[in-house]
Amino acid sequence: MDGLEVDVAVVGGGPAGAALAATLAPGHRVVLVDRPSHRRGREGLGETLPGAAARLLRELGVWDAFVAQGHPACHARLSRWGGPQLLAQDALRDLDGAGWSLDRAAFDGLLLSAATRRGAGLLTGRARVDGHEDNGWSIVIDGGPRPAVTRVQARVLVDASGRGSRLLRSVAHREVSALQGADRLVCLWTHLPVRHPAQGTSYVESAANGWWFTAPAPGGRRVVSFHTDPDLVDVTALMHTLTDRAAATPGLAEQLRDSSLDVASSARVCAAGSSRLDRVAGPDWLAVGDAAMAFDPLSSQGLFHALYTGLTSAPAVSGALAGDRRALAQLHGSVEPVWSAYRVAARHAYASERRWPDSPFWLARQRRLSLAS
Ligand SMILES: Cc1cc2nc3c(=O)[nH]c(=O)nc-3n(C[C@H](O)[C@H](O)[C@H](O)COP(=O)(O)OP(=O)(O)OC[C@H]3O[C@@H](n4cnc5c(N)ncnc54)[C@H](O)[C@@H]3O)c2cc1C
Repeated sequence: MDGLEVDVAVVGGGPAGAALAATLAPGHRVVLVDRPSHRRGREGLGETLPGAAARLLRELGVWDAFVAQGHPACHARLSRWGGPQLLAQDALRDLDGAGWSLDRAAFDGLLLSAATRRGAGLLTGRARVDGHEDNGWSIVIDGGPRPAVTRVQARVLVDASGRGSRLLRSVAHREVSALQGADRLVCLWTHLPVRHPAQGTSYVESAANGWWFTAPAPGGRRVVSFHTDPDLVDVTALMHTLTDRAAATPGLAEQLRDSSLDVASSARVCAAGSSRLDRVAGPDWLAVGDAAMAFDPLSSQGLFHALYTGLTSAPAVSGALAGDRRALAQLHGSVEPVWSAYRVAARHAYASERRWPDSPFWLARQRRLSLAS
């Protein structure tokens, strides 16, 4: 078989796509298309899931399985930001309790199996839009295992394909046109083996042209990452010297005492800027998670948003399938308050670092965030 007709095609099997597919699948014909090779390199970023996500995981019916996976708790966020003193944001002061240092591969696997258990079909490969008519979408899947489904007809298309997605641009570019407030932040990262058990904290430190992050990562390792603008540094040179630079940053070096700095893995780079679509939904399409709105990793907000938008969009998709042409488009109204709250928080965070008043990195953020508010 190489063609399939469904109610909903969800492109992207990260938390947003899997949460939406799991919620919709019991009542509709849903297919989830994912390109696992695309995300494999990013699984060790040391991501933290906030404690508030427990409610979403319970609603998805995966809470017990999540607990059984044993993601280590993240009890505090330490920082040197705005000054040289070490500050601690203790999870005890958070009503939702401690978050978790995620094993992303295990977490994504858990959500994907929840979606397939509830009846969503899972296809592997790169999806692209081949046509859009009144009666739905034609989607082509390249690079999957053969023989396999290579074409899907769907009444509703959901873009859950992550940060910087271009999936909907070819056919709906007037609606999904330019990204607003886009920035070019990149994250350079490497792993260090850990000699002693990790402490259950993450650490952020600002620097003249960016900021550092370190946290435990799965597999007895720790991630060390630097976030900067690619036009301010020689990214290739920085990738080769990342560990040396980390070791030469006194506050950070103290946090890396448990790690072997001389056996770092080769550094990688990924996009980390914030962005959003002008419109996140139309009568028969929708974007969720990072595809709709991607946040600066400083906010640690992306995974919650991905799960939340995946879970809460399902009734509107059902409404669209029942013939309500405004059901999905109405979701657009929920985007603005989230984006505004994010901008306020990001502006506050970047404005609180004043030690490098002439640094293009800090100047650009302070200027851009205040202009875009
Ligand atoms: C450096 C960095 C650090 C971060 N740290 C944190 C953190 O600590 N806490 C936090 O909450 N968030 C963090 N985030 C954000 C978090 O990773 C994202 O918000 C989250 O992964 C978004 O989930 P998603 O499902 O929307 O997209 P993704 O997780 O990106 O999933 C998208 C999926 O779509 C697939 N795909 C893409 N294109 C196609 C295609 N054409 N066809 C088929 N499949 C496709 C991809 O392979 C992928 O599997 C961080 C992000 C970065 C860059």
